[in-house]
Amino acid sequence: MGVSALPFKSLKDYFLSKYGRRVQKITVALPFTCPNRDGTKARGGCTFCAEGSKPSMLDSSVPLELQIRQGIERARRKYGRDILFMVYFQSYTNTYADVGTLKELYDVALSFDGVIGIDVGTRPDCVPDEVLDLLEGIGRRGYEVWVEYGLQSANFETLKRINRAHGVSDFVSAVLRAKERENLNVCAHIILGLPGEDDEDVIETARLLRVLKVDGVKIHPLHIIKGTVMALQYERGEISTITLEEYAKLCAKVIKILPRDVVIHRITGEVDRDRLIAPEYCDPSMKNKVIQEVIKAIEKE
Ligand code: SF4
Repeated sequence: MGVSALPFKSLKDYFLSKYGRRVQKITVALPFTCPNRDGTKARGGCTFCAEGSKPSMLDSSVPLELQIRQGIERARRKYGRDILFMVYFQSYTNTYADVGTLKELYDVALSFDGVIGIDVGTRPDCVPDEVLDLLEGIGRRGYEVWVEYGLQSANFETLKRINRAHGVSDFVSAVLRAKERENLNVCAHIILGLPGEDDEDVIETARLLRVLKVDGVKIHPLHIIKGTVMALQYERGEISTITLEEYAKLCAKVIKILPRDVVIHRITGEVDRDRLIAPEYCDPSMKNKVIQEVIKAIEKE
């Protein structure tokens, strides 16, 4: 299996070049919450967030070992036995516990044969130095370690509007402190089409990521999920989503701004049909179409 001819470095290609075979993410859910929900920073969470972005098929009450074992078995059934794994702590804030607890959980993930590392999703205001030390230490043991920070936008007015309850400076600090460390890769999440934003806001966000030399970026179109604050705002006509054509053009602009060696973890966002309100291109059946439209837009840029 060779690397693809995509006009950007995809996560799949990055892994293939580095490990010589497929590395499959095994997504798990911890029974954590987030400081933007429990009142530590704010209540109610980000206005777009449903259940801390937990995929509906995951159950955080299932022991971590079992979640990983089942994930590995599923991946082997689908892709065969000649694959490796990275355990992805995705939902809520996966550094929101004391360091001893985090170490135990991350070590469970690393104890499985074929696991090359971990990917930890969190908030930029939730990574004290001791957590970064822990992650750096895992990297020093030879594991692949990614920390994923949700930024969403580099516009502070937008962050307030969507109730992120952290500032741009928290993100800058979190990236700089992580980049001082060896063997620790930083991925930033951004959302295109946020309320009140125009193309210039998104371009500025991409420029900040370039200046900070992040290692990876995950790009999503804004999508409205049932049960969120945004669902109410959408029903009231206060916010809207962008079209697939608009998203593809904007996503292409972002990718063009980023250095070619930045790993693009994602350029789509899918939500199960029964939970998705809009836009229709975030239905899982549209994933390939979205990717193709972004590729076409990059080639036209
Ligand atoms: S910080 Fe993450 S988990 Fe918490 S409310 Fe926002 S998106 Fe959801």
